[in-house]
Amino acid sequence: MGRYTGAVCRLCRREKDKLYLKGDRCYSDKCAVVRHGYAPGEHGQARQKFSEYGQQLREKQKARRIYGVMERQFRKYFKEADRRKGVTGELLLQLLETRLDNTVFRLGLARSRNEARQLINHGHFEVNGRKVDIASYLVKPGDQIAVRDNRKKKAVFKEIVETRSQQEPVDWLEVDHEKLQGHFLRVPQRDEIDVPVTEHLIVELYSR
Ligand code: SF4
Repeated sequence: MGRYTGAVCRLCRREKDKLYLKGDRCYSDKCAVVRHGYAPGEHGQARQKFSEYGQQLREKQKARRIYGVMERQFRKYFKEADRRKGVTGELLLQLLETRLDNTVFRLGLARSRNEARQLINHGHFEVNGRKVDIASYLVKPGDQIAVRDNRKKKAVFKEIVETRSQQEPVDWLEVDHEKLQGHFLRVPQRDEIDVPVTEHLIVELYSR
């Protein structure tokens, strides 16, 4: 199945949570979750009761949607997290957090993960001085992420930097908005990752 191309606010309404998929609008009163706090569709306002499996499935979908990852790739992340030593759910979120598109978004060099993905695909970014146009590229501690020199004057980056104050800075990244670059200092701990996901439900789902 291909990438979802419909109205992204419907995805937040389905999860009844802000997934921050749309940039500036997400921080305003125009946010669809603020205006309509119920699921989309004819039966959206009906009371919903999920089975255990349904809850696990919803949690996995929510995480996939927040990070913009397709099912097959998400499962690969889970397999990798499961293979590593440690708490699988936490390792899964840590892997997702080290994606380049997520890092660009967290650095405030894009207004949403979707925008970050698009900018990376268009070849605007480099890691440690080398062009990287793969949004799923995993960054490592010490990596430098920057807008490429010949792209820095693009109007989109001026706009992004002007609106960056909407996002909370995170401790595991260091950013220089003047130079349009930043560093990935370390892998974040679970309590630093502010995504509204109960990851153990995802682990339970894939362990069935
Ligand atoms: Fe739309 Fe953003 Fe609000 Fe989600 S958080 S409903 S994407 S405006």
